[in-house]
This record gives sequence, structure tokens and C-alpha cells, in this order.
Amino acid sequence: MQLEQQLQIKTPTPLQRLDLGSQAEVWCKRDDLLHPYISGNKWRKLSPVIKQALRLQYKHIGSFGGAYSNHLHALGYVCYQLAITFTAIVRAHPNSSSTPMLDDLHRWGHDITFLSREEYKLRTDKHYTDRLCKSLGLDLLIPEGGSDGESLQGVASIIEEVCQQHQSFFDLIVLPVASGGTMAGLVKYLAENAFKTQVLGVAVLRGEGYLEQTVSDLLAQSGCEFDRAMHNWRILHDQAFHCGGYAKVSGALTEFQRSFFCEHNIALDKVYNAKSFFALKQLLSQNKLSKFHNIMILHTGGLQGEREKNV
Ligand SMILES: *Cc1c(COP(=O)(O)O)cnc(C)c1O
Repeated sequence: MQLEQQLQIKTPTPLQRLDLGSQAEVWCKRDDLLHPYISGNKWRKLSPVIKQALRLQYKHIGSFGGAYSNHLHALGYVCYQLAITFTAIVRAHPNSSSTPMLDDLHRWGHDITFLSREEYKLRTDKHYTDRLCKSLGLDLLIPEGGSDGESLQGVASIIEEVCQQHQSFFDLIVLPVASGGTMAGLVKYLAENAFKTQVLGVAVLRGEGYLEQTVSDLLAQSGCEFDRAMHNWRILHDQAFHCGGYAKVSGALTEFQRSFFCEHNIALDKVYNAKSFFALKQLLSQNKLSKFHNIMILHTGGLQGEREKNV
């Protein structure tokens, strides 16, 4: 707990009732309130590796992401607070204009290495990452999004908190899915502890098959018995919600994001949570979740990515 205190991370995050006009009870786990800089699910995923980095006295960490990445932002802030040198490996042209996220990394004194789209594709190639570690002098290279076998264990803390906060069990948990670590972490913990809860991931990008494979691979990497776990999760792939790709939006999505804030006073980022909350609202109103009575939606945070330069 000491590390969380040092970083001023506020857990447990609130679990709050959400009135979506449905028969089923809906509750929202507010991981967006976990910290002003460290995006909710990114801390959950990073906490095991950061604890390890401190234990092993790593001096220099690197990781991958885009120019708006919540993951690089969270990790950058943590490294800044803990005086660990950090190199962000960013998919962007060095001459492209900066973003509020990259400005923050600069302000925290971090190095940024820019990779072309082509080179960025090598980010999971072992030979390539070994070479990169050597040339940058890294003690540790964390994968994109912070999703790996170890990160799943950090995500389990969400369910542990919820068990303390809520008497009856949730029969459905809804969340957005991109690199899959958050979903895999929930699935693993629920399966291993014999919860009957179903997990519904909302794809925020076009990735039918690919996303399922990614979640399965992470479960296998973390030693989860895949066969037992696989019946408790599903990923929804729907153009109406992912809007055709990562960070793509539609008029309907933007309108939902705006009206949701007016009605509930909860801000949703457009890349992740606008899509998952929109999906939940639509599925409920279309009566497609009628077998569930007690639903939790995870607000994963991500609002830093919403800051725009004047465009
Ligand atoms: C990264 C991120 C996600 C996606 O989580 P994965 O574990 O990569 O699937 C969801 N919401 C927010 C706010 C994120 O930053």
C-alpha cells in the first residue's frame, strides 16, 4: 500500500449506482477517479511491474504507444514520481506536431523515440525488442498498453474491491477492450474464484478474432486454464460502437457522449468509454441483456487523451 500512498492513488475507487432506465440494476466502478494523471486501468495493469521494478532497482524503463497514449502517460508520470528514467517509444513522425500527452512527457524530463509505422509493427518481435533494449540501455521494456501475463494480477484488485463494496454478485461486467489486458485480468480472477459473472468486452477497434486471440494468449501467458475460463467471456464487435476503428467516432457516438455527461455528470472519453457505455445503453434498450439483473460497467478512465490542442 505504501507505493499507492506515495503516488496518491485513491483506492478503492467508488462504486456508484447508474440509472440507465433499465430493469436491471446498473453500477459503475469509477476507476476514472483513481488518480488525476494515472489513468484507471493503466495503473491496475502496471502495478505488478512497477513493484518489481522497485524491488529489482531498475533504473531505466521503456514502453510503446501512440502520441495520445494513456499508457505512456500513466507510466511516464509514475516513473517521474519514482525517479526512474523513462523512454517513450512513440508511433509518430518526429516532425509531426506535439500533443498534450507528449508535452507532459517532456515536462517530466523523459526521452521520446519516434518510430515509423513500419518499424512500430516490429514492437512484439523478440529480436527487435532485444536490440532496442540494448541500444536504449533499458532494464525493462513494457509492451504496448502495459498488457502482459503479469499485468492481469493487478487487474484482479478491481474485483477484490468490488467484493468489499457490493453485497450481491454481479452477473455481468462490461468494459472496453483494446490490448486485452484488463479484460483478461477480470476473466482470470472471476474464473479462478468460481464467480458466475459473465464479462462482456466492447471492441473499440475493428478486431474480430484478433482480439479474442489476444485475450486468450494473455490468459495462457498468465497460467490461467483457458478451457475453464473461456465460457465466461465474450467480445462484442459492432460497427455502431467501434465506429470503424481505433479512435474513430460517429455522430451518434459523439451525441451519446455529450448527453451522457449532461444526464449523469460523468465524463466519458471518446476512444474507450463512450463506446462501452453507448453499447451497454443500446443493448439494454434493445432488451438484449434481459437475462442479467445486476450489471457493473467499468469506467477505465482515459480522460487525459481527450485534451486537444486547438484544431
Ligand atoms: C488502454 C485503455 C483501455 C483498454 O484496455 P486494454 O487492457 O488495453 O484492453 C480502456 N480504457 C482506457 C481508458 C484505456 O486507456
